[in-house]
Amino acid sequence: MRILFVAAEVAPFAKTGGLADVALGLPRALASLGADVLVVMPKHRSVAAKAELREAARFTVPVSGQAKDCIAFRGTLPESKVPIYFLGNDAYFDRSAIYGEVSEYPDALERFTFLSRGALELCEALGWSPDIVHANDWHTALLPAYVKSLGLARSKGAKTVLTIHNLAYQGAFSRAQADTIGLTGADLEPYLRGDQVNLLRGGILTADLVNTVSPTYAKEILEHGDGLEAELRSRANALYGVLNGIDTTVWNPAADPLLWATYTRKNLAGKARNKELLQKELGLTVDSRAPLVGTISRLAEQKGFDLIMPAFDRLLDLGIQFVVLGSGAPEYERFFREAAERYRGRVAALITFSEEWAHRIEAASDIFLMPSRFEPCGLNQQYSLAYGTVPVVRATGGLRDTIVDVGSDKRRGNGFSFEAYTADEMLGALARAVTLHRDDPRGWRDIVMKGMDQDLSWENSAKAYRDLYRKLGR
Ligand code: ADP
Repeated sequence: MRILFVAAEVAPFAKTGGLADVALGLPRALASLGADVLVVMPKHRSVAAKAELREAARFTVPVSGQAKDCIAFRGTLPESKVPIYFLGNDAYFDRSAIYGEVSEYPDALERFTFLSRGALELCEALGWSPDIVHANDWHTALLPAYVKSLGLARSKGAKTVLTIHNLAYQGAFSRAQADTIGLTGADLEPYLRGDQVNLLRGGILTADLVNTVSPTYAKEILEHGDGLEAELRSRANALYGVLNGIDTTVWNPAADPLLWATYTRKNLAGKARNKELLQKELGLTVDSRAPLVGTISRLAEQKGFDLIMPAFDRLLDLGIQFVVLGSGAPEYERFFREAAERYRGRVAALITFSEEWAHRIEAASDIFLMPSRFEPCGLNQQYSLAYGTVPVVRATGGLRDTIVDVGSDKRRGNGFSFEAYTADEMLGALARAVTLHRDDPRGWRDIVMKGMDQDLSWENSAKAYRDLYRKLGR
């Protein structure tokens, strides 16, 4: 089975969120199952420092009716033989940020038209014919239409899959820009919505199969689909949910080079050591008994900061320490900087993006707080399970599929969850966690062990994707 997998970001070459992790983990796991996978992403500025690049092909890509130059460079996904091609056009991709500094770059539609169409032109240049063309999010949602309508020799007849990692981002542009994408008539129609171009809508209506990154989110979006409910319902028979795995070569506390001390489920001493050193480094009071609550996240509304901020004093009244790593909305950044000033020794705020600190916080924390308003899958609650850090989450989307509340099911319980999106419910769940942590070390350890024992690797998810591809007769 030959799979062309195209994404706007792939870890470790360029990353802003979970999409990049999936675009690394899934192709690698599919290759382990025997698939022939080829990954394509833009040659963002950050790529050159992270990959050994070899020029592989030169061709042009039609965008807005003009032939744009493309140099494709070849590399491999780390710890694998999976080839990845970086589509280079410096005018589009040699920029400081992947999508834009504050708001999206004004030529976003051109940039991602170039990526989608360029991926198929690459297949022509390489003489490589995919059976499956796998698109991800709005950036590559034009692929299904291009496969069906361009008649390119190599991709003609391929089956198309669109994975929605986050429905909130749809790639909406003014209709005046529709000429950019080079589709007309019935091919273009699905990509229009009112007076806008909407790439995700087009992908949903055109792909042979659509999936989201958790079963619960796949159901939720039929009711709350950010304006695309009708389109999603019309594809309900071709809409699936597959939970993301995690990259256990990168997220493994027993062999994590970014930690101060490694540890295993049999010997948690290293976890305590990470907590102590994190407290020291970040100016928190060194106290092994104080429940350390961690949060690592894009500082975006989706992630539940509207619950955390108004309840922050009450949260601290639970006797916890709090560490946040994230960047994003300026009002959230300001809030946490000020909170760290106000609660010296009890609150630490790292307003940045840092892989190193993400790993350290996962290892050092006792509790991971993730009160998302919605969550397509969520990775950090799964990293937390692997690191023996007990998740407290809102039961939505992938959080509902991965975290079982100990109160509702003692045997399977691996964390704490709450239903309604309110500060009181969040505080209630966190209070239950803090109480158990304080009063029942043995019970706490049981929950920690349950998380660390889970198989969260990509293998199961990759098998589920393979089954989806097979549904398409491949
Ligand atoms: P989303 O894709 O909505 O951002 P996910 O939980 O699916 O949420 O994935 C987020 C990924 O980005 C995780 O790997 C997480 O560790 C990482 N991440 C988010 N913010 C930061 C940050 N400030 N520093 C380091 N890693 C971060």
